[in-house]
Amino acid sequence: MLEAHDVAEVRRLLDRGKSHRAIRAITGRSMKTIGRISRREPVGRQPRTRTDAGVMYPDKRMPPVRCPRHGLVYPPCLACQVEAVANRSNGGYP
Ligand SMILES: [Zn+2]
Repeated sequence: MLEAHDVAEVRRLLDRGKSHRAIRAITGRSMKTIGRISRREPVGRQPRTRTDAGVMYPDKRMPPVRCPRHGLVYPPCLACQVEAVANRSNGGYP
């Protein structure tokens, strides 16, 4: 995951006049991510949308993770959340 200190490191290298390719070689970050950081666009985690029942939509910008019950999914696992909501006594709705 892209952490704040990774962003700071990429910025520092940009400030030093390093090329995007050189920064990719140093940090292992993608050209896309480095481009975003150089344009001061938001990178990494963004506020996510939650449904009324409190389910968070999986973040498809994150690398897929292996859910022990549902296989390879984008985090957080939507199926697990839906099951948790369905198991609440009131059906999960406020
Ligand atoms: Zn799951």
